[in-house]
Amino acid sequence: MQIDIVTLFPEMFASIFTQSIIKRAQDSGAVEIKIYNLRDFAIDKHKIVDDRPYGGGPGMVLKVDVLHQALEKLKEQNPQAAIILLTPQGEKYTQQHAKQLATKEGLILVAGHYEGFDDRIRKYVDQEISIGDYVLTGGEIPAMTIVDSVVRLIPGVLGDDNSASTDSFSSGMLGYPQYTRPEKFKEEKVPAILLSGNHAKINKWRQEQAKKRTKQRRPDLLS
Ligand code: SAM
Repeated sequence: MQIDIVTLFPEMFASIFTQSIIKRAQDSGAVEIKIYNLRDFAIDKHKIVDDRPYGGGPGMVLKVDVLHQALEKLKEQNPQAAIILLTPQGEKYTQQHAKQLATKEGLILVAGHYEGFDDRIRKYVDQEISIGDYVLTGGEIPAMTIVDSVVRLIPGVLGDDNSASTDSFSSGMLGYPQYTRPEKFKEEKVPAILLSGNHAKINKWRQEQAKKRTKQRRPDLLS
């Protein structure tokens, strides 16, 4: 998969994409992630990427001609990519979106900043995604969230492929509780079933726990 990210702040991505599983995924060739500075697609010699909103009001709006130029150029070298605009006005992101996006050959993620985008850019994107009902300063953290959640679902990226399937949301429920050593912490012991070595019983217990936990904490998922 090739993932291109358009942003005004490319440096923000360095620490996230050079560590842990996302780094290993790039090293193994499962994914190629490229960060582009929106300013490099500016049309005028002053490299202007934003302007004041028509009709007045606070802040600056990213220019449609510059964004369009960026999308045209990136689509040329990532032709199968789905273009995703990061905006609090988009569809609310879930694990289902992550699963769908993980099947794509390419993604182009467009991070806004300031007051957001000139609305006319919406016509040139395939999908608009919000990572939740709150407003961040920019689309960089949403882009990181999407990359992280998608890349770990690309086959072969996680050391043990089963680990994604037992995660919360992957089967529509929250994950089961996990324990590790010590066997006893203060007064609390690890559930005895987990020490039994009986994998059929352990699996059954885990299923029941996942269901119970989902019912208690997120009944909306079960319905
Ligand atoms: N004025 C815009 C609005 O009301 O929709 C919000 C602009 S926000 C300060 C700047 C940029 O941050 C947005 O263009 C978007 O790219 C990104 N952003 C902020 N919150 C987001 C969210 N919940 N999901 C996805 N992107 C978000």
